[in-house]
Amino acid sequence: MRPGKEDLAGTAVRLAGKRMELRAKSIRAAVSLTDGERLLLSRTRPRENAGRLDGWERDLAPSAKLDFALWRHWITPREHASLFVGELWSHAHQLALLGARASRHPVTLICACSDRLRCRCDLVVEMVERLHGARAACAAGR
Ligand SMILES: [Zn+2]
Repeated sequence: MRPGKEDLAGTAVRLAGKRMELRAKSIRAAVSLTDGERLLLSRTRPRENAGRLDGWERDLAPSAKLDFALWRHWITPREHASLFVGELWSHAHQLALLGARASRHPVTLICACSDRLRCRCDLVVEMVERLHGARAACAAGR
């Protein structure tokens, strides 16, 4: 059992049915008061100024290996997305913690992707929402 798993389950019970405030936003968009906690979602340090950042979620971005395979056209964008979902599952604990935090206060993932076709930030938001929804449903006994 991973450390902190019980804490996480407890959090999920308390937060059952509570709405999350998690969104993705471009690094080029202006910093807003409604952003809440701003987390950079990128494997590498972006060249652009990200403005205020509260953290860096390196593991929740596609691996360099996966991005390289897409860049070399060894895989299609669709394959890249589905392989990335596989990578994300190995960070399910981190996704769940992110969901728990986004239930307490607004969290904005800062997207530093240069290419919209390669951007997977919305996919991360969707995964967190699904995982959090499933936990909330379990906690509510559904
Ligand atoms: Zn992105």
